Amino acid sequence: MTASEGFITDLLPVRTPWVTFHVLRDREENALYLIDTGMLSGIPALRRGLRSRGWSGLPIKGIVLTHGHFDHIWNVARLVAQTGAWVAAPRLDDLHCQGRYPYRGWSRVCGGLEATGRLLLGFQGFKVDHWIDDGTELPICGGLRAIHLPGHTDGHMGFLLPHQKLLFSGDLFASFGPWSHLPPRFLNSRPDLLTSSLRRALDLDLIGCLPNHGWPATPSEHLRILNRLAGHG
Ligand SMILES: [Zn+2]
Repeated sequence: MTASEGFITDLLPVRTPWVTFHVLRDREENALYLIDTGMLSGIPALRRGLRSRGWSGLPIKGIVLTHGHFDHIWNVARLVAQTGAWVAAPRLDDLHCQGRYPYRGWSRVCGGLEATGRLLLGFQGFKVDHWIDDGTELPICGGLRAIHLPGHTDGHMGFLLPHQKLLFSGDLFASFGPWSHLPPRFLNSRPDLLTSSLRRALDLDLIGCLPNHGWPATPSEHLRILNRLAGHG
């Protein structure tokens, strides 16, 4: 078990070459919830991870999305078909989830990448069962709180486990040691909102955070990097 996985015992990071997503086990229900779903190789990596943790027999009850970018939602429809899980997504990313977001300016590059990905890799649409707004409390692991951190997309959310002081930070930043960075400008639909979202995340009472793009590291190490990127240390 890596230090990151040991931060809370009921967390499984699922790493694929491009993107990481996370599984939470709710101890009371003995059920699983996903935060994002990854894309290519995500489902086999998920199955391997569940097997290695002894969680293969547990139901996956829900899928929570940080935002509607292709590399986070590509597996949603497949996983819903396999598990019957409900889907919760940021309300302001509705058009992203439908693949109809009108990208403007630099972020048109992101729109072009997504359109190409849809064409080459195939994309199955999905129904969102629950819309998430800032402060929405999801009944997972004693309460998973949505923290609106827009900038990367309009609806981009972090998810806070207040008892663990742990934030799933989505694509607020990418954590690759000395090569850590904020998302590049062509991937951000609302770059004007990024600075205030960084400040908001760092104003939370946190011990650690877990980004969707990054090297394996402890949540506290990721948080140190986020502080550095925001100019706080
Ligand atoms: Zn993204």
